[in-house]
Amino acid sequence: MMRALILVAAAVLAGCATRPPSSVAEAPPKNIIVMISDGAGYAALRATRLWAGKPLAVEDPAFLHAPMAVTQLSTRNQPVPAPEGLAQDPELVFTPGRACDATPVPGETPALYGLNMRYPNGFQGYVWNRRTAPDSANTMSALMTGVRSYTNAINVDGTGAPLRTLAQAAAASGRAVGVVTTASISDATPAAGAGAHAPSRAMRAEIAAQMFGNGRAVVIAGAGNPDWTNDATPAARPTYAWIGRETWQALKAGLPVPPANVRWTLIEEAEPVRAMAAGAEPVPERLAVVAKAVEGTQQYRGGLGPSTDPPFATPLLAAQPALADMAVAALRRLEREPGGFFLVIEESNTDRASHANNLGRVIEARLAFEAAIERVVAHLGPRMAETLLVVTSDHDHLLTGPEGARVAFQPVEDRGAGVLPGHRWLGNGHSNLPVPLFVRGPGAKRLLAATDGGPVADGRAPVPPAACPVTGPVLDQAAVGRALLALVDAPRR
Ligand SMILES: [Zn+2]
Repeated sequence: MMRALILVAAAVLAGCATRPPSSVAEAPPKNIIVMISDGAGYAALRATRLWAGKPLAVEDPAFLHAPMAVTQLSTRNQPVPAPEGLAQDPELVFTPGRACDATPVPGETPALYGLNMRYPNGFQGYVWNRRTAPDSANTMSALMTGVRSYTNAINVDGTGAPLRTLAQAAAASGRAVGVVTTASISDATPAAGAGAHAPSRAMRAEIAAQMFGNGRAVVIAGAGNPDWTNDATPAARPTYAWIGRETWQALKAGLPVPPANVRWTLIEEAEPVRAMAAGAEPVPERLAVVAKAVEGTQQYRGGLGPSTDPPFATPLLAAQPALADMAVAALRRLEREPGGFFLVIEESNTDRASHANNLGRVIEARLAFEAAIERVVAHLGPRMAETLLVVTSDHDHLLTGPEGARVAFQPVEDRGAGVLPGHRWLGNGHSNLPVPLFVRGPGAKRLLAATDGGPVADGRAPVPPAACPVTGPVLDQAAVGRALLALVDAPRR
């Protein structure tokens, strides 16, 4: 009997010793922050670092890093019934062999969105990355629900069925929920982040009504203001593209927004947001920041088109709140909840400027995002020990060095600090290359184990070709989402 007990004890101890440290040492996080630099892949980060002439905030050794594949379920743009609706299109699944295939492809490909431009085909890898790329709706949904879906899907599966989201799980666990963006508040990334559900990202007014009316989030901050242009001048007539007329009128009048009859304090100016972030003014119980811009806080100031202008060639609009101020103001509200919080922070212009092939604005947007990371970490201070911070992108854009049409995946070229790096865009749409994932805090190691179990992502993948910007084990975006959900759902003492 005694001998049997000793053997059992030894087996338990041996089991503990061989278990990965993530399952024994890491308590679940009290707070979870997910920061998205939309569309910013490895090349955009490198370009920002070169221009800044110093390491990025995510290069702090406190962060762990791994590449994350952004495979989508289907390139369909609407749901279809099962079983077809739930079937993974095998052609879209990331492998280094597909994504980094350096076989030259002659000829050109037309630009998207009807633009009268063409790009060199370049290489098989470029062709695959363009053809299979996901959008910001299904990528953020994969991260927020752990389930891949079709293009345009907001937290619904391939059949259109609503999925349980991180925001819902966080609220159910007693955490306060907030979402902050430089885009319009009902754009794909903040919509998915706030836990909205829609078969299409295009249902913007309905998404805004959900976000303001369902009683879940206590902070919603961004743009989408019907009364203002993108240059912070009054609009000739209201644009209800992002926030519908009824929701907007309720917000402006301080009236309850149905169905949960939520009353918001609406802020449209930059200064009160700055004061709240500085602690000089109290943050209201329900904070709605809708900055004086219809589509984005700084994105389209003075117009946004292809350009080789350096960052800040067009002065920033003083009327717009900075991402860092919106983020810290949100934290000052969320941290009042004893149960912790879940906050999504998005910088969207890294994506929009990439669509416009405007590297200067990609860099300035990434710098705003970097400042937000630094301010969040500084504000939380010792509370970072109970906070899981995820800093990533939802998808990539094809950006290379100046000879990227001839040299596969040539890195952007260092021309010194303060000088726009040598570069070339190989498309004006998204790419399917993996994006950088940086994580720190409790649960970080569990996220780094988040693979889809496939041959690429199990950590034993062959080292990608030298030309490929991706090396080492590759995580899976939906698997990271499932790991995040597990951390939020984990029982807390
Ligand atoms: Zn985009």
